[in-house]
Amino acid sequence: MKTQETKAKKILLVEDEKHLAKGLKFNLEREGYEVSLAEDGVTALQRLNEIDFDLLILDLMLPKMGGLEVARKIRDTHARFPILILTAKSTESDRELGLETGADDYLTKPFHLPELLLRVKGILRRWEWYKTPLHDQEVFRFGKMWINFATGKAKGASGELLLTNKEALIMKLLISKKGEAVSRDELLEKVWGYEPGTETRTVDNFIARLRKYFEKKPQKPERIVTVREKGYQFNP
Ligand code: CA
Repeated sequence: MKTQETKAKKILLVEDEKHLAKGLKFNLEREGYEVSLAEDGVTALQRLNEIDFDLLILDLMLPKMGGLEVARKIRDTHARFPILILTAKSTESDRELGLETGADDYLTKPFHLPELLLRVKGILRRWEWYKTPLHDQEVFRFGKMWINFATGKAKGASGELLLTNKEALIMKLLISKKGEAVSRDELLEKVWGYEPGTETRTVDNFIARLRKYFEKKPQKPERIVTVREKGYQFNP
């Protein structure tokens, strides 16, 4: 047997359609991941408390407890946990709902296997980057505010709050390049894993929300500023 230099990433796959689950497990294992399968939401939550996983692939339509409820419960205890949602539902409101629970990405069934593998790889890569401490510190302080990147807790202009995965990723990226403009394309690529040039409005919406958290006057930002034709910049 070949010895592995790096530890295999552990994925919990929550899917009740047996054929699909078996196929996905097989293919993910072929990519070198360790895959554990749960067929309902209750089992998924139990498994998450027992084992340290790196990623959850979560179907929304599940017996016993629906996927969205599973995602919400996970957010209560594991604020930072990466989740990829799979669903047959494709309405905009479901997508919004899924992303609101802090899911990292979203795939609508039926999807192509290479697409799923790409998303999985992208999420794991983003989180690997996210986990490296910023200037050797997990808590970043600026003025009277702070962000704890390990827990996602933060203190903003009007008190304490909990950042979603994407919000935390954006802040970490901006802060790691503080004093320097970060383009929307780079934000899209590093935080969402999208191809450059798509959906830049998404970035703007998130920036608007982050300004509400971390600016005394969100309309006149001083920390998260717009740099004309370049992107966004964090000024500590
Ligand atoms: Ca299902």
